Formats: sequence, C-alpha cells, structure tokens
Amino acid sequence: MECEVCGAEEASMISLIEGARLNVCYKCAGLGKVVYQPQQRAREQGSAHIAKPQFEIVEEYDARIQNALRNMKIGVGVLAERINEKESFVERVASGHAKPDEKLARKLEKELGIKLLEETSEGTNAPTATKSAGITLGDILEIDKKKKK
Ligand SMILES: [Zn+2]
Repeated sequence: MECEVCGAEEASMISLIEGARLNVCYKCAGLGKVVYQPQQRAREQGSAHIAKPQFEIVEEYDARIQNALRNMKIGVGVLAERINEKESFVERVASGHAKPDEKLARKLEKELGIKLLEETSEGTNAPTATKSAGITLGDILEIDKKKKK
C-alpha cells in the first residue's frame, strides 16, 4: 500500500494526522501521532535499542574457572574468600549449576586471570541503520532544507 500522505513510499505505519487514521510511510509518520508501528520491522532495522555494548557469560565458564583453580592450585573455598563471596555459591558457579552475573564474572576474571565475558555483536551495528525509525518532523524539515540547497 502506498503512503496516503506523500504517495511515494510504501506505507508501513498508521499515523493519526488531523484526526484521520492514515497509512503512512515512516517519513510521514512524524506528521501526526503514530498509532501503529510494527515492532518487528523496527527491530530488524536495528533501531530499537542500541546503546552500550552487551556482555555475555561464555558458555564454558565453569570449565574455565575449574582450569584456573587447578592451575593456581587453590580450591573453591580459597577463591570464595578472595573475591568475598559465599563458598556454596562459588561452588555452584564453578560446577556449572549457577551462571555468574556480570559483576561476579568480572571479579572471577580478575582473580583467576581468565576471560568469562564476551562482548555480543548487538550494539555495534553501523550507525546508518539507526536513524530511520526515530525520525521526527524536525528531521524531515531538516532533510528538505538540505535537499533544496
Ligand atoms: Zn509518505
């Protein structure tokens, strides 16, 4: 379906413009109040939530902790004491029964000299894809101005 405002772009949203619900393209959506915006499409464009890098605990975190403990010739109890955590909890983490949170993982990384956190690819997308969905009327006017020059 074509945008009912400009007729040039594919309508992907519904916007309330001067009391009328119109099928509009993302450029014209900013002219009124957006009442329907397909969530999936916004996410595919990578515009929903891009901010700081995300970290994930590596899958084999338990093996890495156990290896480090073996290399350092210390037990879970000593480790727990050094990082100021409950031994029972550290035990569960080292045996793979509990996933450490980011804070604990960082402590373990520092104490054991290993890597437990991985930066996920999310959040490192190219900035070009981030602009379109968050476009405002001001942006549109700005673009028009630039075109005329
Ligand atoms: Zn339009």
